[in-house]
Amino acid sequence: MPSAPADHHPTKAGRTPRAAGLSSFLTRVGSAAAGLALVAPVVGCSADAPAVATPTAADAAVVAQDLGDALAAADSGRASALAASEAPAVAQRLAAMAANVGRLHLRGITVAPGQPPGPDGLVTFTVAWRLPGIDPDPIPTLLTLRLVRGSDGPRILTVGSRGQTPLWLLGPVDVRRSHAAVVIVEGAAGPGIDRPPAVAAVRTVRAVLPRWSGRLAVEVPADAASFDAVLGVPHGERAADAAVTTTFGDPATSRSSRVVLNPDVFSTLTPLGRRVVLAHEATHVAVDAAASSAPLWLVEGFADYVALRDVDVPIRTSAADLVDLTERRGPLDRLPAARAFASSDGRLASAYQASWLACLTLAERDGERSLVRFYRSVDRGADVTGALSRDFDLDRRRLTELVARRVSTWAR
Ligand SMILES: [Zn+2]
Repeated sequence: MPSAPADHHPTKAGRTPRAAGLSSFLTRVGSAAAGLALVAPVVGCSADAPAVATPTAADAAVVAQDLGDALAAADSGRASALAASEAPAVAQRLAAMAANVGRLHLRGITVAPGQPPGPDGLVTFTVAWRLPGIDPDPIPTLLTLRLVRGSDGPRILTVGSRGQTPLWLLGPVDVRRSHAAVVIVEGAAGPGIDRPPAVAAVRTVRAVLPRWSGRLAVEVPADAASFDAVLGVPHGERAADAAVTTTFGDPATSRSSRVVLNPDVFSTLTPLGRRVVLAHEATHVAVDAAASSAPLWLVEGFADYVALRDVDVPIRTSAADLVDLTERRGPLDRLPAARAFASSDGRLASAYQASWLACLTLAERDGERSLVRFYRSVDRGADVTGALSRDFDLDRRRLTELVARRVSTWAR
C-alpha cells in the first residue's frame, strides 16, 4: 500500500535489546480496510423469525437520544437500561461505556443514527466524543447496533462497530493520567503491559523537540482482537508490530494521534525495548508523522534517532541487521524506499537501521538542531535534495556513501 506507509518490526527484534526498527506507525489507517473484520454481519430475516415489530427510524432516533444522554451524563444505569432484556452482555457493555466516559472525562458526546433500520434492525450510529487535553476536535466513531422493538419501546440487542473503535467503547478501562500522558488500559490487560513508560517517552522526545507541548495518549488493549479493533484492521494485519501510531477520526483532517500497543509483542520486550518503542512512537506523535509527506526513511530514521539518542547500546549492535546485510549483499547503495518498510522479510530491520544511521550521520555532521530543522522543512514539503544540500552540503548519494562506509567498518 504505497499510499499508506506501514512498518513492521522483525519478529526477532522483540526479544533482543537491539532497538532500531522495533516499532512502527500507521498513517491514515482505516479507510480501505476498516470494518472488514468488525462489521456485524447483516443477516436476513428467516421464515421462522419471531414476529416482532421492525424498528423504525423514529426508534433509532429515540435510541440515539437516550444513549447520547446516558453517555454524556456518564450514567451507567441509564445506559444499561437501553439493552434488550435478553442481552445482559450488551447491558454490561453499555454500562462500561458510560462509566468510561466518567473515568476519561470525555466531552462533547453526541450520538446520531445513520440510515433507518432495515428488517434486521441494524443501524449504524455515529458517536462523537473528545478526550480533553488530547483531541482538539470531536472524533466520530461508528457503532452498529441491532435494535428490537419491545412493548416499552426500542432496545439494543447487539453492539458491533465499524472502523476504528477506541478501547472506551469496547469494555471497561482503567485510566492512568500524568502531566504528560494519558494511558488508557483495557480492564483485562495484565501486569507487564499496563504501565508503559509513557512519561519517559515524552521526556525523551522533549529533549530533542523542546517546543512540543502536547500530551501523549496511549491505548493498551488486552488482546489481539482489541488491538485490531482499535486500529480498525483485519485480524492479524499488524500482528508483527510492537506498537502503532495512528489517528482517530477522519484520516484526512484528524489532529488526534494515538499510540496503540500490541500486547502480544509489547509484553515480550525488555524494559529498554519498551522505552525505545514508546519514544519512537511518541516522536511520530510529536511531529504529526501520520500527516507527513516526508519520505519514510526520514520519518522512521528521525523517530529512531530520537528514541535511541540516549540509549546506552553500541551503534554497531543497534545496526546489526544492516551489518549482516552488508556482509551478504555488499554495501548500502541507496536510502530505503517506502516499499522497504512494507516488507516482512529480514530486510525490514535493515531499512530502519539505514534510516536511523542516515539521521544520526546528519546530526553528527552539523548538529542535532540542523537535523531537526531539516526534518521540519522536508515535513512541510521542502524537496529533500535541496534541503540536504542547503543544510548539510550533501546529496542523497553522498549521504548513502557516508552510511555505507560507516557500516563497512563493522562488516567482515
Ligand atoms: Zn515508526
